[in-house]
Amino acid sequence: MDDLKFGTRNKRGDYAPNAPAQTAPLFVFPPRPLALLKWVPHYFFPYSALFFLSAWAWWAWVVPPVEGMQTLAWGWVLKLFAVNVVAVFLWYFAFELRLYITRAQGNRFKYNGKFPADAKSDVFWFKSQNIDNILRSFLSGVPIWTGIQVVVLWAFANGYAPWVGFAEHPVYLALLTLVVPVIHEFHFFCIHRLIHTDFLYKWVHSVHHNSNNPSPWSSLSMHPVEHLLYFSTMFYHLILPSHPVIALYQLHMAGFGAVPGHVGFDKVELTKDTAIDSHAYIHYLHHKYFEVNYGDGLIPLDKWFGTFHDGSKEGDARMNARFAAKKARMNAAKAEK
Ligand SMILES: [Zn+2]
Ligand SMILES: [Zn+2]
Repeated sequence: MDDLKFGTRNKRGDYAPNAPAQTAPLFVFPPRPLALLKWVPHYFFPYSALFFLSAWAWWAWVVPPVEGMQTLAWGWVLKLFAVNVVAVFLWYFAFELRLYITRAQGNRFKYNGKFPADAKSDVFWFKSQNIDNILRSFLSGVPIWTGIQVVVLWAFANGYAPWVGFAEHPVYLALLTLVVPVIHEFHFFCIHRLIHTDFLYKWVHSVHHNSNNPSPWSSLSMHPVEHLLYFSTMFYHLILPSHPVIALYQLHMAGFGAVPGHVGFDKVELTKDTAIDSHAYIHYLHHKYFEVNYGDGLIPLDKWFGTFHDGSKEGDARMNARFAAKKARMNAAKAEK
């Protein structure tokens, strides 16, 4: 497929789509009903639907019956951990294999023309972005993911969380299920903005930003403190009246849902003539410019706070003006001292 029909490539080989990145038409005023109607299928497919089904699969086949979850026992906890490890490996590896190992579409639609495996860097363990990212995902990512999952399921099983049944409150639970991606976006924006403050950035979040040319394995390459904050999105379901399967859906949205933003390609080719949008551009720009796009655009929080970058020249100009103003403020504060 000719990617230059949809974008441009600079001298370094980096690809940029012609169409600026857009936030969802969900929380906008005045409302845009037509745009909203067109966008609605993207709210469900493919990812939300997939993670909703995976949550049911875990509930049916991986998680023990309620009586089993009332006590913390190695048996079910280790089974859950093992299934999470295998699932994370298969899901992340599927993207990695096609786009980064076999390089099925070369660097067509690839934002950063280079492949991380081709460059060694001192910031990574063993100087390899891939080895570093994989080790961080499995050494602290999946264990903390599983730990939070166990605590929440145990709390539900022991009556410490307000458990609502599907038979009694089907409409409420359907609405809550619909809101799960919104909770995810709100939570992610808040913790992400928090870890971009100076101290937490230096000690925690810089680990994730070492991958300024992100690939699928970068998604869960975080400091353990960030893993803890990121996966704590499941705790909302200990406060809101909810159901364990919806809590699992919330967690899967964070754990498995991290990959689309780090795929590194604007479109993923399915056949010679068809490709699907990855919706990765907003978060790619965050990895490139750091202090823009703290959210993924489901809620236009970055627009409200003036930190949105759509990848256009105007977006660049807005960002540079903001950075210059910040620098001037810092210099003025220094001069006062
Ligand atoms: Zn990221
Ligand atoms: Zn960040």
